[in-house]
Amino acid sequence: MSARVALRDELASLGRYHSPQSPVEVRLNTNESPYPPPAAWQHAFSDAVRQVGFQRYPDREAKALRAAVGSRHGVEPEEVFCANGSNEVLLCLLLAFGGSGRRALVFEPTYGLHAHVAGLAGMEVVAEPRGADFRVDPVAGAAAIARVEPDVLFLCSPNNPTGRAEDPRTVAALVEGAPGLAVVDEAYGEFTSVSSLTLRDGSAGAEGLVVVRTLSKAWAMAGARLGYLVAHRDVVAGCQAAALPYHLSTQTQLAGVLALRYETEMAERVRAVAAAREELAKGLAELDVDTWPSDANFVLFRPRGRDASALWADLLAAGVLVRDFSSRPGLEGCLRVSVGTPEENERFLELLAGALR
Ligand code: PMP
Repeated sequence: MSARVALRDELASLGRYHSPQSPVEVRLNTNESPYPPPAAWQHAFSDAVRQVGFQRYPDREAKALRAAVGSRHGVEPEEVFCANGSNEVLLCLLLAFGGSGRRALVFEPTYGLHAHVAGLAGMEVVAEPRGADFRVDPVAGAAAIARVEPDVLFLCSPNNPTGRAEDPRTVAALVEGAPGLAVVDEAYGEFTSVSSLTLRDGSAGAEGLVVVRTLSKAWAMAGARLGYLVAHRDVVAGCQAAALPYHLSTQTQLAGVLALRYETEMAERVRAVAAAREELAKGLAELDVDTWPSDANFVLFRPRGRDASALWADLLAAGVLVRDFSSRPGLEGCLRVSVGTPEENERFLELLAGALR
């Protein structure tokens, strides 16, 4: 290709952010729910879709969906922005509040899309290290914020791919110290009992607080592509201005409104996944691997005395796909396994034990 069609630098490394999609028997690489949404949701959704006049554009304001999300969290619809997955939520947020000449701060290792989307939006990205246990150190974190003065601070709790939720006191202090937006990505928030949404009640820094959630994980709807943020109404208005008109299809809006009616089933799924995670962690503890505690639906582990990439390939050849982070700075030698069904987890543990022998 000629220099006139050169890819933007921000996109040159895109391949690194994607987990391969292989048609394997046991897929434990993208932190999806191992269980489908409830059958009652499936029926309600099919019925609702049959009634849609698809010749019309969707509701541009996604009023019913934002009201449903708002009532779940006790906020106004004007404080909710929805998009096609939380990745698109983040993209709209940074198109609105990022841009060249502005800085984003991330604590690595963390979810790679934060830095990637900030780069796409033209921002300078500053990466600071996490503490020894992969949590953000409150003192070092506060010092980094004072030094970098980020327009957008990213936190991720529980953190992907390391698994722990941040100490709520650390989050509160960092949000308070952030001069601009403080984005707390809670994609795995339903798996823990703590949420930064509680900081909205008059805490210092609440104006700049942005809490991001998704229906892709606990809600078992990764295929529907739906995520949202809860923030000050001016932040939401900015996101709406950056989003393309009619970006959220009628069927996505319906899927979300109906999904939120099955909160009890969601909580049951979360309990089942958390129990399976504990079994998985126990199984891993018996093997020759280092592991880290998880508050989410995945576990980070590091084989001792075995090359992680070669092990990843062996598992894949045997029909189990996990995520290879072994070449990511700070995660050398690490793999991440999503919590599957008890049968899937057992199969993974068996194969892993065999491969490590
Ligand atoms: N944030 C975090 C921390 C994630 O791990 C993921 C998915 N892996 C996302 C956001 C994006 O999820 P989605 O776009 O499916 O909502």
